[in-house]
Amino acid sequence: MLLRMSTLLLRTLREDPADAEVPSHRLLLRAGYIRRAAPGGYTWLPLGKLVLDRITEVIRSEITAIGDQEVHFPALLPAEPYRTSGRWTEYGDDIFTLADRKGAQHLLAPTHEELAALLVKDLFTSYRDFPVTLFQVQTKFRDEARPRAGVLRGREFLMKDAYSFDLDEAGLQAAYDRHRGAYRRIFDRLGLDYTVVRAMSGAMGGSASEEFLAATPVGEDTFVGCTSCDYAANTEAVTTPPPAAGDPDAHPPVEVHDTPDTPTIASLVELANTRRLGGRDDWTAADTLKNVVLTVRRPGADVAEPLVIGVPGDREVDLKRVEAALAPAAVAVFEEWDAHPELVRGYIGPQVMAKLGVRYLVDPRVGPGSAWLTGANEPGRHATHVVSGRDFTPDGTIEAAEVRAGDSCPSCSSGELTIRRGIEVGHIFQLGRRYTDAFAVDVLGPEGKPVRPTMGCYGIGVSRAVAAVAEQHHDDRGLVWPAAIAPCDVHLVAAGKGPQLEAAVDLGGRLAAAGLRVLVDDRTGVSAGVKFTDAELIGIPRAVVVGRRLAEGYVELRDRATGERTELPVPELVDRLV
Ligand code: ATP
Ligand code: MG
Ligand code: MG
Ligand code: MG
Repeated sequence: MLLRMSTLLLRTLREDPADAEVPSHRLLLRAGYIRRAAPGGYTWLPLGKLVLDRITEVIRSEITAIGDQEVHFPALLPAEPYRTSGRWTEYGDDIFTLADRKGAQHLLAPTHEELAALLVKDLFTSYRDFPVTLFQVQTKFRDEARPRAGVLRGREFLMKDAYSFDLDEAGLQAAYDRHRGAYRRIFDRLGLDYTVVRAMSGAMGGSASEEFLAATPVGEDTFVGCTSCDYAANTEAVTTPPPAAGDPDAHPPVEVHDTPDTPTIASLVELANTRRLGGRDDWTAADTLKNVVLTVRRPGADVAEPLVIGVPGDREVDLKRVEAALAPAAVAVFEEWDAHPELVRGYIGPQVMAKLGVRYLVDPRVGPGSAWLTGANEPGRHATHVVSGRDFTPDGTIEAAEVRAGDSCPSCSSGELTIRRGIEVGHIFQLGRRYTDAFAVDVLGPEGKPVRPTMGCYGIGVSRAVAAVAEQHHDDRGLVWPAAIAPCDVHLVAAGKGPQLEAAVDLGGRLAAAGLRVLVDDRTGVSAGVKFTDAELIGIPRAVVVGRRLAEGYVELRDRATGERTELPVPELVDRLV
């Protein structure tokens, strides 16, 4: 494969795009891999599509190697199977629903457990047909509350999803273990630093479940890992430990709340601006809010930023200020002092937590009549403890607020739990018979009696994996792709016109003929400096500079990751690279 920069659909950007907060998003946009096309929807440009396809191929090869068979379900589906399984309502606002011209309700599938179960029911009749595992690589649709960070959380994204069917628990366990092994090989090949953590099953239902979290501070998942054994768990799956009885340091019980259904920030502000609260006619919320500090820790930030949402003299709460503070928040902590306790604990806190869509904690340790409300901005997840935040800076604001799992390791009880953040790139579940029960999937058993298969399901965020790899493989000059999934193997830079350009194109042809994926920078109206900068931004593992020393028969080989440069005689180049 030979791509020429002079004709490639690629425009690199010098400046960071204003709306891109995390490194992978910034770099994928700047280096011309993706382009935003819709809220939570991205166009894959040629270089991006190559990476996406290479990742897909790594996944496909490992998944077919364990015997899974590839199918392709429709994404546009009638509501009925999802009503039968209960997920039409369980998924709630997360699914895109639509009606056809006759008014029949449909959805754009968020995953396909229902369809897989129905397909097996349709085609298989005997125990002899089992086990079987089906998989597909397909665009999924979810109306995410907060699409973010480019392809990291889209409303439309590519997923590899697999569904296993076995007749007994041992079979399901074997299928689960097979996928766990394949996932490890896949994420190793993608060059990801990841941890397998215990997880909650979420909207899939089922029992055993593990997530593959790629460690990075911009990840939305918080997980704990033990310092002495291999225990690791998503904090979603860690339960809040009760306070130790009789322990003088034990803090009062932490209450965990689900957020109310439909409040909005606008309603909070309207209420704060117009109504009198707490049964005291002389207190308006605007008066009270001057003493409420909302502390927001943004993804990737070590330190929380205090944001006073009402300041002395303010007559009105500023909606824009509140919303701007909340939109990118990873963790929001309310700390009230000298404020009306009911206002914070009973009203503003819950309202804002609901806006964030989080479960939250009320931790009454701040002092009599006050509390911290802490939540992590992910539906279904909640903080387990607030451990710091007590430390005030001289101007009276909170220095840092952290969410941490308490107590020693629940597995070995000798190690300590440390906390990290990660991106969920894969998730495997033992579903059991939830879906086969829902659709009465029965086949003839060996003794002539019907048996009902048990299911597992196994997902990988393919498009998200592109961003996760970019998040872990970049430096301040640009992307640094692992060789196994780079868009090209070699980036040839013609650092000069005339003979250099001709030689670069010729060498590109020879390398491509030898089976390499080659990008040649054959642009003429662009300086060598710009070409070098672009090559580093694009991040292909090896660059070959065809420059001044061509006259003496040499080119320069540059290693993107190490920065190492080697001069090579032209005739040796092909052998060296293939
Ligand atoms: P998250 O917790 O990030 O919302 P999820 O638990 O809802 O993900 P699953 O239902 O487990 O996701 O789907 C399988 C995989 O699909 C996830 O592990 C993740 O890699 C990917 N994925 C899920 N939602 C998105 C999204 N909005 N954009 C990109 N990839 C996604
Ligand atoms: Mg989700
Ligand atoms: Mg999840
Ligand atoms: Mg998941």
